[in-house]
Amino acid sequence: MADTIFGKIVRGELEADVVYQDDLVTAFRDIQPKAPVHILIVPNDPVETVAHVEPRHEAALGRMFTVARKLAEEEGIAEDGFRLIVNTRDQAGQEVYHLHMHLLGGRSLGPMLSR
Ligand code: 5GP
Repeated sequence: MADTIFGKIVRGELEADVVYQDDLVTAFRDIQPKAPVHILIVPNDPVETVAHVEPRHEAALGRMFTVARKLAEEEGIAEDGFRLIVNTRDQAGQEVYHLHMHLLGGRSLGPMLSR
């Protein structure tokens, strides 16, 4: 797949507010936050979309959830609640084709979808 800005952030080639990194995933604050807490969690090994996911990606995808839980606790939003979003392809509004999970919280997030 083509390199993206998120690949550059994972490799430290593009500046970002990185809040967590390990051997499988990287988490950094969204440049245009939609909520008081808005963090993106990505697999270090890029996958374009959920439509490209294969069994070999399971370790990184599972890690994304344990890191989401850890960051939600650290950010103080675990108790009140938070939302995880993974947009996939055009109709979901995916902009960056390096699979990523949005971790959003810190205010009431309203209904899941606008009509
Ligand atoms: P998508 O719409 O693909 O699900 O979400 C892409 C997200 O990446 C958007 O929320 C956007 O604000 C964020 N984003 C785009 N470019 C950058 C960047 O260069 N740095 C950071 N930290 N976030 C970015």
